[in-house]
Amino acid sequence: IMKTENLTKDFGKEQVLKGITLTIHENTFTAILGPSGSGKSTLLNILSGLIKPATGRVWCENTIISDLSEKQLASWKRMDVGNVFQNYLLLDNLTVQENIKIGICPHKPSLSFDRLVRILQLEELLNKFPAELSGGQQQRTSIARAVIKSPRLLFCDEATGSLDEENSKNVVELLHSLQSAFGMTILFTTHNPQIAKTADRIITMKNGMIQSDIQNEHPITAGNMVWG
Ligand code: ATP
Ligand code: MG
Repeated sequence: IMKTENLTKDFGKEQVLKGITLTIHENTFTAILGPSGSGKSTLLNILSGLIKPATGRVWCENTIISDLSEKQLASWKRMDVGNVFQNYLLLDNLTVQENIKIGICPHKPSLSFDRLVRILQLEELLNKFPAELSGGQQQRTSIARAVIKSPRLLFCDEATGSLDEENSKNVVELLHSLQSAFGMTILFTTHNPQIAKTADRIITMKNGMIQSDIQNEHPITAGNMVWG
């Protein structure tokens, strides 16, 4: 569904990505693992169209995303891309229900709101405000907001980075359920090797390069993750 060819990115003098060539297949769950500063977020942000590469190209099917005009890019993102961030980015003065509905795209059919809140275990929380929720509940709300428009691509940058063990397991499990329920393609950055082992592909980055890229023949389930 996506492909990159020789992506590079620099910030000032520092070359943060040093030639990333990658193919992402539809309906897969890919974990991007690697130490802090290795370029995980930068790669994810280029794939999701938030920033442009210095050189190299990004395709989504036959469209070269990295060459689109601002307007075309915005429209691609609206239709096809969902983002989940470490710090949730919910709107404080809106309820859970209202925060989720912000994610609806008027130009395409949405997922069933009821089914989504059931899968994400948010039914009891719909009229609460973000400040009244735990981190895990806030993250589940932000996931609902990202996926309600049924994006083909879901990019999660350290989506469990602010969560405790139980909430992290929960969120990872829910992302897997969403993938099987709705057939999304998910890319997920993490520092946690156990979380990466739940993915069907594990890409390890080091120093702006792909250090390893393995198909994970036996993904573990979130419940079987070992912490500590
Ligand atoms: P972490 O695990 O800490 O999130 P990461 O693997 O996601 O790290 P990136 O955020 O991609 O790493 O950053 C890679 C390098 O690029 C870092 O050295 C960082 O300082 C630098 N960098 C990232 N974004 C910017 C920016 N907007 N301006 C300048 N430097 C940046
Ligand atoms: Mg990062």
